[in-house]
Amino acid sequence: MKFLELAIVLDRIEQTTKRLEMVDIISEFLRKVDDEIRETVYLLQGKVAPDYEGIELGVAEKIAIKVLSTITGISEGKIEGELLKVGDLGKVGEELLKNKKQSSLFYEEMTISKVFRSFLKMAGESGSGSQTRKIQILQELLQNSEPIEARYIIRIVLGKMRIGVADMTIVDAIAIAFGRKEDEDEVERAYNIHPDLAEIAFTAYNGGIEALKSMKVKPGVPVRSMLAERLPSLKEILEKMGGSCAFEYKYDGLRIQAHKDGEKVILFSRRLENVTSQFPDIVREIRQNITAENAILDGEAVPFNLDTGEMLPFQEISRRRGRKFDLDATAERIPVVLFLFDILYYNNENMMNRPYAERRLKLLNNIRESMKLRIGKSKILSDENDAEKFFTEALEAGCEGIVAKNISEKSIYRAGAREFLWIKYKRDYQMEMEDTVDLVVVGAFGGQGRRSGGYGALLMAVYSKEDGLFRTICKLGSGFTDDQLNNLPRMLRPYLLKEKDRRVDSIIQPDYWFEPGKVLEVKGAEITISPTHTCCRNIIKEGAGLAIRFPRFTGRWREDKNPEEATSEEEIMEMYHSQKKKVLPDNP
Ligand code: ATP
Repeated sequence: MKFLELAIVLDRIEQTTKRLEMVDIISEFLRKVDDEIRETVYLLQGKVAPDYEGIELGVAEKIAIKVLSTITGISEGKIEGELLKVGDLGKVGEELLKNKKQSSLFYEEMTISKVFRSFLKMAGESGSGSQTRKIQILQELLQNSEPIEARYIIRIVLGKMRIGVADMTIVDAIAIAFGRKEDEDEVERAYNIHPDLAEIAFTAYNGGIEALKSMKVKPGVPVRSMLAERLPSLKEILEKMGGSCAFEYKYDGLRIQAHKDGEKVILFSRRLENVTSQFPDIVREIRQNITAENAILDGEAVPFNLDTGEMLPFQEISRRRGRKFDLDATAERIPVVLFLFDILYYNNENMMNRPYAERRLKLLNNIRESMKLRIGKSKILSDENDAEKFFTEALEAGCEGIVAKNISEKSIYRAGAREFLWIKYKRDYQMEMEDTVDLVVVGAFGGQGRRSGGYGALLMAVYSKEDGLFRTICKLGSGFTDDQLNNLPRMLRPYLLKEKDRRVDSIIQPDYWFEPGKVLEVKGAEITISPTHTCCRNIIKEGAGLAIRFPRFTGRWREDKNPEEATSEEEIMEMYHSQKKKVLPDNP
């Protein structure tokens, strides 16, 4: 079929904002295209492959302008000027071609498959000379284009299709084209376990909706992630769950769906992009610790300080998107731990339709935990107070909350669904610590890994003006240079005690105690409720105190301050109340 026909359909879609109209236009066209169905569906989405394959056309706007200039004889500067006015190079190209006399000498008919093949060829070009070859292909395409075809060719190569067709619109169109409207759920089910709409359309085209029923989960092809609903209180959560459910730590990092298929390991993000190359260390862990022939696991990768055992703010992970050759070094500098919380597939067995308890058991019985590959924390609870305690423990550990999970027989893994089988409960707002605080060293923990032999983290305290006690507020292990770390034992030796100083009020038992003496400047992300620290204990909440989340040494020793001049407990209380409350955006 001529690409021109597809371009006309794309234009019709662009003219409407009504979803049902789009569904009609697309389904009607899908019935007509015959064996070019795969190519058609990809092009409708402005792609040449599903997102998870990570294939991009990689043409910069500058290059497309250059090509347009070559074939129309209009200067690049003028085209850039038009682009500024119109804001869409596709439209600009279309207008330019309208005014150009076609040189029929080179005219070659453009079918959907021919255009698609040209795009694929462009995507496959890499290395030296690849830009020149891409330019040649684009030039050839545009030389043979009708103006309206040029509009879409340009947009597709730039990755800016923007005709507003959502995946679910295509799902519905496939149902109507090859079955009935009522088959939408079946098409969606197939899409959830195999999110490649071109493949889905092709399967339905060949074997009807029946053929979609036999589509199976396959290691290497991502499954759409199951998502969580939200409720405002633990009471409501427990009620909704029928009185009892599993509560899990809600780790704050990057969702990772890990696929093992023989020796091959592929990692997908929440948006199902292939992120394998960002995590060479996780790939190694999975290869070493998962013995099954194949498996699909769901989890969260969290940046972690392996020496102190602390979780770090998740933004640290984005620093991994560095240059490729540098990744192993970065992985070493910013280690991540993958916390697994679900298992979808194991040794050729699809686990998605099994209830929660069975999947959890499978995870526990078959995954060998290591330093960087762990199983997420989970507890079955039915009491609101216990759930509240679990929640504060999760925050204290550096998590952003908890996820409640249904444990009834119907608690399957619902790919792509945001339903009440999972309910998240987070701090409802994020608070920001505006200022630094000056804290007193009262204890230390022996280090591990690179820090073994020295201190891994320090136990820090504030001073209570009211009763003259030093109350703990955080464990501090971040922000030190290697030199500072090496120097810590020497520096703190004069303060070392055999047992706890009487002025120190602590529930935590460190490996070493110090007389309150040294003061350090610390910056944290926020002040949060804590079950283990004694600062402001029982004041804001019975059985809990306050802690600093993600504390970091600023590098400044407050030699000018004696411990009684450190930040006071009273100041922390004020800071807690005046923290800037930033309402977190609600997720769709
Ligand atoms: P959020 O911004 O709250 O993470 P989201 O839209 O990305 O929202 P939701 O499904 O609403 O995702 O919330 C659950 C998210 O929490 C998961 O996507 C996952 O990344 C993360 N998570 C961390 N720990 C768990 C866990 N134990 N079980 C399920 N999800 C978890």
